[in-house]
Amino acid sequence: MSFWPTWKVSSIFTVTPAQLLARGKKYVLTDLDNTLIPWNQKDALDQVRDWAANLHQHGIEVIVVSNNNHARVAEALADLPIQFIARALKPLPVGIKRALAKFNIPAGQAVMVGDQFFTDMLAGTFAGVDTLIVSPLVHTDGWNTKINRLLEKPVRHFIRQREWTKPWAKERGHAKFK
Ligand SMILES: [Mg+2]
Repeated sequence: MSFWPTWKVSSIFTVTPAQLLARGKKYVLTDLDNTLIPWNQKDALDQVRDWAANLHQHGIEVIVVSNNNHARVAEALADLPIQFIARALKPLPVGIKRALAKFNIPAGQAVMVGDQFFTDMLAGTFAGVDTLIVSPLVHTDGWNTKINRLLEKPVRHFIRQREWTKPWAKERGHAKFK
């Protein structure tokens, strides 16, 4: 088991069914805030809906695993056909393990996607699933995430520079993982 995320990519919305299926992944477990939805915009849902619908057509399910409370996650996903686990307690693995058990998911068929190393990526690693780190959707964060980012900065530098974390796909210019 590696300490580092398995893969890196600029955005979850670039992840295609073909790429997932090529890696044997039929379940995308994903963080909510700043991975799927910008933390300060509740109305950016069309892109999420289209992306998830495309995956669904290829037999791939998207399940949100969030540290937020049930009401907040339910509100954010209100108009989307996406199931979720709230109060996941990342970086502990319990929320991801709950998702695997609840939806009957073999760990090898899941990938955990998130924008934060110290919560999303460690939780995935501890739960025994492959992980995919993305650039945050927006770079102005709430105060608690700002503190987290400070801790994340040197770690993200390593993930960006080194090949211990493999690129998910070939990307150029603006689309590169940051
Ligand atoms: Mg996040």
